[in-house]
Amino acid sequence: MRVSKRIAGLTGGGSDGWDILRKARDLQNAGRDIIQLTIGEHDRRTEPEILDEMHRSALGGHTGYPVLPGTDELRQAIAERVEARTGIATGTENVVVTPGGQSALFAAHSAACDPGDTALFIDPYYATYPGTIRGAGAIAETVTARAENDFQPDAAELADAAERTCARSLLINSPNNPTGVVYSAQTMDGIAAVARAHNLWIISDEVYDTQIWDGEHLSPRQLLGMTDRTLVAGSLSKSHAMTGSRLGWLVGPAEAIAHVENFGTHTTYGVAGFIQDAGHFALKQGEAFEARIAAPFRRRHQQVSGYLEARGLHVVPSTASMYLMLDIRSTGLSGDDFAERLLEEHSIAVMPGESFGSAAAGHLRVALTVDDERLMIAVAVLADMVDEVSTAAA
Ligand code: PMP
Repeated sequence: MRVSKRIAGLTGGGSDGWDILRKARDLQNAGRDIIQLTIGEHDRRTEPEILDEMHRSALGGHTGYPVLPGTDELRQAIAERVEARTGIATGTENVVVTPGGQSALFAAHSAACDPGDTALFIDPYYATYPGTIRGAGAIAETVTARAENDFQPDAAELADAAERTCARSLLINSPNNPTGVVYSAQTMDGIAAVARAHNLWIISDEVYDTQIWDGEHLSPRQLLGMTDRTLVAGSLSKSHAMTGSRLGWLVGPAEAIAHVENFGTHTTYGVAGFIQDAGHFALKQGEAFEARIAAPFRRRHQQVSGYLEARGLHVVPSTASMYLMLDIRSTGLSGDDFAERLLEEHSIAVMPGESFGSAAAGHLRVALTVDDERLMIAVAVLADMVDEVSTAAA
């Protein structure tokens, strides 16, 4: 039987961007010792006290069908967190709990776009974005954020794209995966102005909001006239090392959120009660706990960027995230070819920039997700290879 064009065309006929990760895992399964700097997964798992709470809740009977928009306590805690971080009044009616930020992004596009509408997103982008948009029946269209602008998107180019495509939505991600860049206040103001002028929904992916090493997090929902046209996807995956728990949320205007709740009834049926209770417990630990989870990435971001810069490599200037992006265009190799050789010859797996669109071609994304010692060994080998290949290319 033939499957639908929508589902068969989810990745646009090309690769889903994760080839190198699969190859690295195959090599690991075949017994090779690979240093994995690919996916954004903490090297320390979910903290035991969160697991204790999950266990307690499950034994207490919270194993039945969950409360769909999320439990009152969890939605209240999310609303309080969002309000404290943004200053924008947020109540439980503005919050729906979803199975991870990924599911929130799908729900947000389903809420914003009708089939055939254009949904804009910014290249470079997190690898699932185009498929998420296509899955929701919309047309995925990129706007480039250029390396020479330090990957800050340009308001005039966004306005052109919105005009040309009659887009309904624009998906942004700050702090950004893969670049680690935080959008400046000027960039955010530009985005907000385009959204107002072209009547766009802004879908703001803020799953890295606790991984900012310098400066403040700014959500477009905070900007003038934006609260009613912004849908914010959040998650405990990165902030609380709960990637496997699949616990996230969508925050937005009450009317849209009520529809997203209804959407949940017909798609995911919510998140298990014992996961929600553990998430509530996790949020109640407060900012010091979040800072503790983020600390290894803060430390490694500084150490590794300092080291690579001292070695003369071009590190994309960034102030956030568990990633660093390197410009390896001096080697004459594509990110794909470099990453392939690094894996083959040195057993180190990093993501090629090409996995995240075309704007980051000739770059590598290094996830800072192994212990400091192994990480420093890996980046030294990587820098040696950049030197070696650049010299040969010169
Ligand atoms: N957005 C971005 C930018 C991400 O990097 C990820 C996960 N790596 C997600 C969303 C999805 O996260 P979650 O685990 O909350 O579904």
